[in-house]
Amino acid sequence: MKITEVKTYHLRYPLREKFAISRGWSTSRQAQVVEIVTDNGLIGWGEGTGEVHRSAIDAHIIGRSPFDCGAIYQALSDDGVSPKAISGIDIALWDLMGKALEMPVYQLLGGKVRDKIPAYATGLFRIDRPDVTQALVDEAKGYVDMGFSAMKMKIGFGADYDVKNVTAIRQAIGDDVLFAVDANCGYDVGTAIDVGHKIAHNDLFWYEEPIPLDDVRGYLQVKGALPMRIAGAEGLAGRWAFRELIQQRALDIVQPDISIAGGFSECRNIAVMASANYVRVLPHMWGSHIRLAATVHWQATIPDAPDALNPIPSLFEYDMTENGLRTELAVNPIRAVDGELPVPDVPGLGIEIDRDVLEKYAV
Ligand SMILES: [Mg+2]
Repeated sequence: MKITEVKTYHLRYPLREKFAISRGWSTSRQAQVVEIVTDNGLIGWGEGTGEVHRSAIDAHIIGRSPFDCGAIYQALSDDGVSPKAISGIDIALWDLMGKALEMPVYQLLGGKVRDKIPAYATGLFRIDRPDVTQALVDEAKGYVDMGFSAMKMKIGFGADYDVKNVTAIRQAIGDDVLFAVDANCGYDVGTAIDVGHKIAHNDLFWYEEPIPLDDVRGYLQVKGALPMRIAGAEGLAGRWAFRELIQQRALDIVQPDISIAGGFSECRNIAVMASANYVRVLPHMWGSHIRLAATVHWQATIPDAPDALNPIPSLFEYDMTENGLRTELAVNPIRAVDGELPVPDVPGLGIEIDRDVLEKYAV
């Protein structure tokens, strides 16, 4: 089996209602999709967050076997291609290996340790409406009604907004729902600690990205000052970018994104490094259905840490916001049922891409 073609697509989905994280408003969702074709007619799909130049594709991918995925990763990396871009290639190669062997990707990764992954609803973004708090409360109650036992909201908009809305949502969802907050790197150390103290009484499972992404000493300061777990690193690419944060235990929870950090091949390395340093791995997921499916296969293989009768749940980041690239792109999407994601027992990533949808959103 030899690779004959690598195609790339940039997809853009315009949002009906804009929303904000701490650092700005979004009016669209985007995805960089990779399609790899082999001489025996198999097709693999991947999603990355950077572009691989045609010259690198011709030099290191065309004519090789998908089973050379590790060597291809190394050759691209040695040629200066970023892990963000290699991610899309690597995911497509694992999809192809699974299809060639008629095995799900999780099987190739060593087998799943869970059949279903408990999901948390990611949503509760800032929206441009007169009564934001009421809208957020209604949204949070909706997730409880759908069967979610965990959710995450966006903060980082200043202490007044954060305290008012975090408190309102905790009151609305009750004490039994696991609740996390995400500041998307919007604060400096002092503000992050100040806000953290002011919202801490709401029993927060984690406080995500309180400060900029790679500020190791800053994370140690924030972590040492606050009672809740500190999470982060969703935007980091390649194992070396994670090294200091993990080795210095600057995070309680590390959140590699499979389409940014380097695909299955590199995320496995990062998870091993985290495990050896007793840092929890909860993957970040924010993308098309290809990224969702890849994350399901990878997360299905991450063991509980520590192993226990009633382990701390390996929570899947289940994006509940509007994004046609996630909800329309696969003919057979993986969907949460009663707050849990089933791990698909079909070859490769186990999703079939709707080419009409691919063409519709390609730019
Ligand atoms: Mg985040």
